[in-house]
Amino acid sequence: MHEHCPSCGQRTEIEVGFYVGSGYVSYALTVAISIASFVAWWVLVGIGAEDNRIYWWLGLNAFLLLLLQPLLMRMARTIWLSFFVRFNKNWLMEKPIETGRVIPGQMELMA
Ligand SMILES: [Zn+2]
Repeated sequence: MHEHCPSCGQRTEIEVGFYVGSGYVSYALTVAISIASFVAWWVLVGIGAEDNRIYWWLGLNAFLLLLLQPLLMRMARTIWLSFFVRFNKNWLMEKPIETGRVIPGQMELMA
Protein backbone atom coordinates (compact mmCIF):
# COMPACT_ATOMS: atom_id res chain seq x y z
CA MET A 1 0.00 0.00 0.00
CA HIS A 2 1.23 3.48 -0.82
CA GLU A 3 2.37 5.59 2.11
CA HIS A 4 0.90 8.63 0.36
CA CYS A 5 -1.75 8.89 -2.37
CA PRO A 6 0.08 9.06 -5.73
CA SER A 7 -2.37 11.73 -6.99
CA CYS A 8 -2.88 14.18 -4.15
CA GLY A 9 -0.20 13.23 -1.62
CA GLN A 10 -2.63 12.47 1.23
CA ARG A 11 -1.04 10.19 3.82
CA THR A 12 -2.84 6.83 3.75
CA GLU A 13 -1.85 5.61 7.22
CA ILE A 14 -2.92 8.58 9.32
CA GLU A 15 -1.86 7.17 12.68
CA VAL A 16 -0.04 4.19 14.15
CA GLY A 17 -2.12 1.01 13.82
CA PHE A 18 -4.76 2.88 11.84
CA TYR A 19 -5.88 -0.11 9.78
CA VAL A 20 -6.67 -2.37 12.73
CA GLY A 21 -10.21 -0.98 12.56
CA SER A 22 -10.57 -1.95 8.90
CA GLY A 23 -11.16 -5.49 10.17
CA TYR A 24 -14.70 -4.43 11.11
CA VAL A 25 -15.30 -3.21 7.54
CA SER A 26 -13.80 -6.42 6.17
CA TYR A 27 -16.10 -8.45 8.43
CA ALA A 28 -19.17 -6.51 7.21
CA LEU A 29 -18.15 -7.04 3.56
CA THR A 30 -17.61 -10.77 4.19
CA VAL A 31 -21.01 -11.16 5.87
CA ALA A 32 -22.70 -9.27 3.01
CA ILE A 33 -21.04 -11.51 0.40
CA SER A 34 -21.93 -14.64 2.39
CA ILE A 35 -25.58 -13.61 2.64
CA ALA A 36 -25.66 -12.84 -1.10
CA SER A 37 -24.09 -16.19 -2.01
CA PHE A 38 -26.43 -17.99 0.40
CA VAL A 39 -29.51 -16.41 -1.20
CA ALA A 40 -28.14 -17.19 -4.68
CA TRP A 41 -27.47 -20.80 -3.62
CA TRP A 42 -30.94 -21.08 -2.09
CA VAL A 43 -32.61 -19.82 -5.28
CA LEU A 44 -30.43 -21.64 -7.84
CA VAL A 45 -29.56 -24.93 -6.08
CA GLY A 46 -31.90 -25.09 -3.12
CA ILE A 47 -31.42 -26.28 0.43
CA GLY A 48 -32.93 -29.50 1.75
CA ALA A 49 -33.02 -31.24 5.11
CA GLU A 50 -32.44 -34.69 3.54
CA ASP A 51 -29.18 -33.96 1.70
CA ASN A 52 -25.93 -32.06 2.26
CA ARG A 53 -26.36 -29.20 -0.22
CA ILE A 54 -25.96 -26.67 2.60
CA TYR A 55 -22.46 -28.05 3.27
CA TRP A 56 -21.56 -27.60 -0.39
CA TRP A 57 -22.58 -23.95 -0.08
CA LEU A 58 -20.51 -23.64 3.11
CA GLY A 59 -17.40 -25.02 1.39
CA LEU A 60 -17.84 -23.04 -1.81
CA ASN A 61 -18.52 -19.84 0.14
CA ALA A 62 -15.34 -20.34 2.15
CA PHE A 63 -13.39 -20.89 -1.08
CA LEU A 64 -15.00 -17.79 -2.64
CA LEU A 65 -14.07 -15.65 0.37
CA LEU A 66 -10.49 -16.92 0.25
CA LEU A 67 -10.28 -16.03 -3.45
CA LEU A 68 -11.71 -12.56 -2.81
CA GLN A 69 -9.49 -11.89 0.23
CA PRO A 70 -6.90 -9.67 -1.53
CA LEU A 71 -9.69 -7.56 -3.04
CA LEU A 72 -11.72 -7.43 0.19
CA MET A 73 -8.70 -6.34 2.22
CA ARG A 74 -8.03 -3.42 -0.12
CA MET A 75 -11.70 -2.44 -0.28
CA ALA A 76 -11.97 -2.55 3.52
CA ARG A 77 -8.90 -0.32 3.89
CA THR A 78 -10.24 2.15 1.33
CA ILE A 79 -13.67 2.33 2.99
CA TRP A 80 -12.08 2.65 6.43
CA LEU A 81 -9.86 5.51 5.24
CA SER A 82 -12.87 7.27 3.68
CA PHE A 83 -14.52 7.38 7.13
CA PHE A 84 -11.70 9.63 8.39
CA VAL A 85 -10.41 11.50 5.33
CA ARG A 86 -13.09 13.41 3.44
CA PHE A 87 -12.82 14.04 -0.28
CA ASN A 88 -11.62 17.56 -1.00
CA LYS A 89 -12.95 18.81 -4.32
CA ASN A 90 -10.11 21.36 -4.43
CA TRP A 91 -7.47 18.65 -3.95
CA LEU A 92 -5.47 19.98 -6.90
CA MET A 93 -5.04 23.43 -5.27
CA GLU A 94 -5.00 22.61 -1.54
CA LYS A 95 -2.47 20.51 0.30
CA PRO A 96 -3.74 17.38 2.07
CA ILE A 97 -4.51 17.64 5.79
CA GLU A 98 -1.75 16.38 8.07
CA THR A 99 -3.21 14.75 11.15
CA GLY A 100 -0.20 15.17 13.42
CA ARG A 101 -0.81 11.69 14.81
CA VAL A 102 2.20 10.15 13.12
CA ILE A 103 5.72 9.76 14.38
CA PRO A 104 8.08 10.25 11.42
CA GLY A 105 10.68 7.51 11.28
CA GLN A 106 8.65 5.11 13.42
CA MET A 107 5.77 4.40 11.03
CA GLU A 108 7.95 2.09 8.96
CA LEU A 109 8.50 -0.16 11.98
CA MET A 110 4.78 -0.91 12.17
CA ALA A 111 4.55 -2.23 8.62
ZN1 LIG B 1 -5.53 11.18 -3.38
